[in-house]
Amino acid sequence: MKKKIAIIGSGIAGLTLANFLYKDKNHDFMVYEKNDSLSLDEGYGIQVSTNSIKILNKINFSKIDNEKIYHPNGIDIYNILNKKICDLDLIQFNSNDIKYTTLQRSTLIEFLKDDIYTQHIRFGKRIKEVSELKGKILIKFDDNTNALVDYVIGADGIFSNTRTFFEKKKNKPVFKNAIAIRAILKTTSGLDIDQSKINLMMGKNCHLVIYPFNKNKDLNLVCIVRHRKYDPDNIKSILDKVVKQNPNLAKAFKEDLKFWPLYATPKILPSNNSQVFYIGDAFNGFLPTLAQGAGQSIESAYELFNLIKEKNGDIQSIYFQERSKRAKIVRRRSNFNFFVFHFSSKFMQTIRNFFMKFLIKRKSFINSYLGSVYKN
Ligand SMILES: Cc1cc2nc3c(=O)[nH]c(=O)nc-3n(C[C@H](O)[C@H](O)[C@H](O)COP(=O)(O)OP(=O)(O)OC[C@H]3O[C@@H](n4cnc5c(N)ncnc54)[C@H](O)[C@@H]3O)c2cc1C
Repeated sequence: MKKKIAIIGSGIAGLTLANFLYKDKNHDFMVYEKNDSLSLDEGYGIQVSTNSIKILNKINFSKIDNEKIYHPNGIDIYNILNKKICDLDLIQFNSNDIKYTTLQRSTLIEFLKDDIYTQHIRFGKRIKEVSELKGKILIKFDDNTNALVDYVIGADGIFSNTRTFFEKKKNKPVFKNAIAIRAILKTTSGLDIDQSKINLMMGKNCHLVIYPFNKNKDLNLVCIVRHRKYDPDNIKSILDKVVKQNPNLAKAFKEDLKFWPLYATPKILPSNNSQVFYIGDAFNGFLPTLAQGAGQSIESAYELFNLIKEKNGDIQSIYFQERSKRAKIVRRRSNFNFFVFHFSSKFMQTIRNFFMKFLIKRKSFINSYLGSVYKN
């Protein structure tokens, strides 16, 4: 008999796993989402590096509307005054059909929902209670419906509610004293940047990343500012911290802005229950400074799919060992980038810029720092 799988959460991680299970046809599965619909209105961009494009290609990512994605061929790195420091070639990580890609999150969700939307997603479902019944897990939802399943996959994001039902050890996400500001720009807003590349500008306690996410070259702007407190009513003082360093940025910040406090999970913990797994941000929430959150969501979903499909050995411990190894690599680099992108002292900035210029041209360094992530 086919094993039954409940996927909790319809973000990038949950939908990726659902697509692989759908294609494979060897399991009964359902995605349970707490909201009443998919969040398709979040217009912000994401970068999806080659490690995850390789996986998405297995579920026909190549059929995605080409107008809605972009392949930036490099990263230009600037100081906050828009003076160029160095650049990184991204093409070195690409191959014929596996290319570093940028797109809107909603475009990726639209693609992932296509095959499974009508039969395999249930909305308005939030777990109320769980129990074990004859080797299976009985989930009761708060709309008084039930599901009796062999596996539960927590794909419900960094504040995973699934964890609270199955895990004794807490791994509460920590506010990283930083705020993310996002906007969509129609033009470069007077900045001297290349609209076909990813542009990174590093300032005192802040950095900005601006990149095209479709063939129209609409630009996604994300600015991360170190700030001890998230107060949505006092966003102006956060913006002022950035604009004071380069008044030319004021124009970019005139667009419709969205704000997020940044959280990360402090530990990487295994599941207590051999039938319960976590993927995506529910497994580990990273800082966004290596642009790998979505990528790791896709990777973790694919790893787990293969283990469930092959049913070889202790799936739980193999999954945790492999996933945590990978998550630690990404976490170290995300944390390191977060640290060096935000130096406040001019002296430290000069030293950083010198080393960046030097190291970015060293193939061996780039291969070990980024290649190990992008070429998985
Ligand atoms: C500023 C910023 C920039 C980023 N930029 C990038 C980037 O360029 N590239 C990149 O790869 N990543 C990026 N990321 C990270 C990326 O967006 C996330 O890591 C990724 O979306 C996580 O996907 P997920 O499916 O694990 O979780 P989520 O996207 O959080 O999805 C979780 C889903 O579960 C649902 N849910 C929550 N609770 C419940 C519940 N109790 N019951 C049922 N359903 C529930 C939610 O409604 C949601 O649909 C960025 C993140 C930030 C904050």
